[in-house]
Amino acid sequence: MVRDWPIIVVGSGIAGLCTALAAAPRPVLLLSRRRDGVGSASMLAQGGIAAAMDNADTIEAHVADTMRAGAGHNDSHCVQLLATIAPASIHWLQAQGVAFDNDGDGNLQLGREGGHGVARIVHAGGDATGLRVTTMLAAAVAAATHIEWRSDVEVDGLIRRGGRIAGVHVDNGGSSQTLLGSDVVLATGGIGALFPSTTNPPGANGAGLALALAAGAASRDLEFVQFHPTALDVGAGSLPLVTEALRGAGARLRDGTGRLVMADAHPLGDLAPRDIVARRVWQARRETGAVTLDASGLAIDWPRMFPTVLAACLQHGIDPRWMPIPVTTAAHFHMGGLQTDDIGRTSIPGLHAAGEIACSGVHGANRLASNSLLECVVFGRRLGAYLGKQPAASSHASNDAVAALELVMCGPCLDHEAMQLLRDAMGHAAGPIRTAKGLREASETLAPLAGRGWQARLGQSILACAYRRQASIGAHWRTDEVITSSSAATTAA
Ligand SMILES: Cc1cc2nc3c(=O)[nH]c(=O)nc-3n(C[C@H](O)[C@H](O)[C@H](O)COP(=O)(O)OP(=O)(O)OC[C@H]3O[C@@H](n4cnc5c(N)ncnc54)[C@H](O)[C@@H]3O)c2cc1C
Repeated sequence: MVRDWPIIVVGSGIAGLCTALAAAPRPVLLLSRRRDGVGSASMLAQGGIAAAMDNADTIEAHVADTMRAGAGHNDSHCVQLLATIAPASIHWLQAQGVAFDNDGDGNLQLGREGGHGVARIVHAGGDATGLRVTTMLAAAVAAATHIEWRSDVEVDGLIRRGGRIAGVHVDNGGSSQTLLGSDVVLATGGIGALFPSTTNPPGANGAGLALALAAGAASRDLEFVQFHPTALDVGAGSLPLVTEALRGAGARLRDGTGRLVMADAHPLGDLAPRDIVARRVWQARRETGAVTLDASGLAIDWPRMFPTVLAACLQHGIDPRWMPIPVTTAAHFHMGGLQTDDIGRTSIPGLHAAGEIACSGVHGANRLASNSLLECVVFGRRLGAYLGKQPAASSHASNDAVAALELVMCGPCLDHEAMQLLRDAMGHAAGPIRTAKGLREASETLAPLAGRGWQARLGQSILACAYRRQASIGAHWRTDEVITSSSAATTAA
């Protein structure tokens, strides 16, 4: 009898959960550090999910806004897929039990965020969309009979067999184990923790990306990192996010002298594409010492619309109903990652990627707000459905059992002090505004660390890509750029 080896999915954010659910009836082994999506970026998502749900909106308009935000660097086929499948994805989430906010008559309440020409953002629990969606999907996964969910594991190696990836090596808190499968899906999220300030959870350190690169997988657009203009300015490390939807509700950015930061900077003002706002905020903080987001005096039902922001601010002694909120730029989203096709296959047979770690080109040079949860659902489900249709008999592990197993690992992690050096170097050189000199110097700083920890090698790869791309485009902004027509177009976007 042929054994149907499981599809191994690493990561229990929305991408991993969607992939696992869609792979039925094939068996899935879902591996994650924590249970129920805890520790994922997915749980923190505030704004919502973009989809053309309104009669006045169209898929074409969603495509156009996505391409404009991405500075045309996007894979247009993947963008078309994303926007076309978006409305059905919202209906699927509703069928899973996600109660999106509505006006009481059953019509979805749609929010508006930067770069969107219309109100298009579906949300749940006000600004608690990620928490609500992750919780419902985690419950569906827990009830699914085709999925075995193991938490408290760190995946620290990939198993190669006969030219395919056929399993993972895990650390269960002291003991280690090799787990074989027909395929491996990495859904391990982003890289924000490589920067001094980030909106990402501390675990978003690029471990999965580094592993796949060590195995020889092709990467794409590693230099494209989106910086959020409004993280709560309360120190370094993982900072609470102050959602863009607040600017959609009328909040304005002011610099340390009280001047409006986005005045005359862009026709969409405070709702200009994120990269443009982030650069202005970064510059204004340098020039005037501080930037605040002023939502005081607005007619906002805070506990209902922005409970997450309100709670985070109050925790730090800031009452946004009466006081301006101090904000800073922070690493937020990685547009680049493992090169994938429109299904989620990487360049190595048996290895696949979904969610933020993947780069199909759908976000181009700059992600449009609220398109990433959508990416997790659309492409996670596409990948799961594809793998679910693969016949058990073709699974590599059963067919090729005689080939030797080879373990690919990243080696040691940087210690605390070296991580600080790395984050400072990344923050100075690979932040919202970059120069060749800064990137070269940061690379030199990381060179002696490369043998001491994989994070330094991953940082070097990102710096090298940023150094090679001389022209500014989207979120990659070089003040020493060679001006090209595409960078000029981005400036005008
Ligand atoms: C504060 C914040 C707000 C956001 N708001 C929005 C929004 O409103 N709309 C939107 O579209 N996007 C938003 N985003 C972006 C979006 O949340 C993320 O891009 C998306 O959730 C990524 O999902 P994912 O499943 O790929 O990764 P994650 O949700 O980060 O999940 C990664 C999973 O992999 C696990 N993992 C990682 N490495 C390992 C390992 N080595 N071994 C085992 N497990 C591992 C983690 O523990 C985690 O379970 C926001 C992001 C942040 C940080």
